[in-house]
Amino acid sequence: MISAPITTSVFDLFKVGPGPSSSHTIGPMKAAYDFRQRLAQLSADLQTQANSVHVLLYGSLSATGKGHGTDRAVVAGLLGWQPETTDPDALLELLQNPASSYPILVGATTILLEPQHIHFERKRYPSPYANTMVLQLRHHEQVLYQEEYYSVGGGFIIRKGEPEAIPDVQSVPYPYSTMTELKTQLTTHNLRIDELIMTNEMALTGRTRAEVNQRIDLILEFMHKAVRRGLRHKGILPGSIKLTRKAPILFRQAKGMSQSSDSFLIFLNAYCLAASEENAAGGIVVTAPTSGASGVIPGLTYLARYHFHHDKATLRAGMLAAAAIGFLVKHNASISGAEMGCMGEIGTASAMGAAFLTRCAQPSGSIKAIEAAAEIAIEHHLGMTCDPIGGYVQIPCIERNAMGAVKAYNAFLLATSGAASLQKISLDAVVKVMKATGRDMSTKYKETSEAGLALSATEC
Ligand code: SF4
Repeated sequence: MISAPITTSVFDLFKVGPGPSSSHTIGPMKAAYDFRQRLAQLSADLQTQANSVHVLLYGSLSATGKGHGTDRAVVAGLLGWQPETTDPDALLELLQNPASSYPILVGATTILLEPQHIHFERKRYPSPYANTMVLQLRHHEQVLYQEEYYSVGGGFIIRKGEPEAIPDVQSVPYPYSTMTELKTQLTTHNLRIDELIMTNEMALTGRTRAEVNQRIDLILEFMHKAVRRGLRHKGILPGSIKLTRKAPILFRQAKGMSQSSDSFLIFLNAYCLAASEENAAGGIVVTAPTSGASGVIPGLTYLARYHFHHDKATLRAGMLAAAAIGFLVKHNASISGAEMGCMGEIGTASAMGAAFLTRCAQPSGSIKAIEAAAEIAIEHHLGMTCDPIGGYVQIPCIERNAMGAVKAYNAFLLATSGAASLQKISLDAVVKVMKATGRDMSTKYKETSEAGLALSATEC
């Protein structure tokens, strides 16, 4: 019996927005935008009494929010900007001048948001989630109205008290919540994984097949634009690390090594670094499943398109297989670095990438091989910590995307070498282990920059 089926849309997983972090940039921007909409609904009495808006950031949002641009994202959301249409250059301009204040519409009233009213709170806050933010409308010290939001990874947010929509088994034609259930549906109805995900997506969103395909093509285009921009852009990334972009260097090197057997790996590394460096610079990327991990799948899909010359239909099928793996991890563990460490971000992206490659290479879409590839990729990311230096999504994040893609490639090779049926560990089992490992991991290693590589900052 299927308990609560997965009802996430493919396009909630693959979201377009500004870098560098889906949980610290896109999520907070969406929360602040939601708060702005709610302010407009308040009574005129409350609206006219109010004289300030305050934002309180807790947990990992407080620890690494500065480096991740959370404060700018919150201002943007309160100004009514949305991730998909935000101009990344305009976003980077926000809060550059500490003397600036920003006009926030509260019904017919305008309140100026002062930068000092964004508080990075280091004290613990009683919250069920690592990334918590509280937005308040105040009259001097008196709180007139407030909302509490949780940014749960990949740009997904939850508002405190909002009744959780219990997914109805009827809402999708082929309900599943685990890989075991997904496989049962595939066998019972004699479907490929991409066909099942496409049919569920059409039912969930009301889009036609042509519209879903068009949107997947657009998502791929956004991913590949990020790769192309990153291959062109040279120089130093924003922030105190002063990290030099490496993608254009690797790309040039790869082009000079076309006869070498290593060249395709150097191309893949260059593509992954390119999209990740764009993310670190605050450029427009696609969460896959998060912004921190937004270099793995763009790198692999770029390789699949321009080196392996897969056609559009094959790339779309691969993307749907990748989405299925992202859904399963999000539903049964978490894709948030603040909850799972980096195995939740790069580990999941790598598993999605392994499923993508396997589906692209096998027209029959053997679910055994896809499951094995995804399982292998996650298994070898278990326990991987999140400890970004200085709170910037740069070290280890950028190279980690390239490593995640290379592991995805090897997981695909291992799974399609004819021994998929010998695989002992199921995807469901490894996702359970991931969840338990994330729960046991010290918070120092979960996007707080309080341990690990983050402590080596002085050596950089
Ligand atoms: S270390 Fe991994 S999880 Fe942490 S910010 Fe970087 S990419 Fe994201």
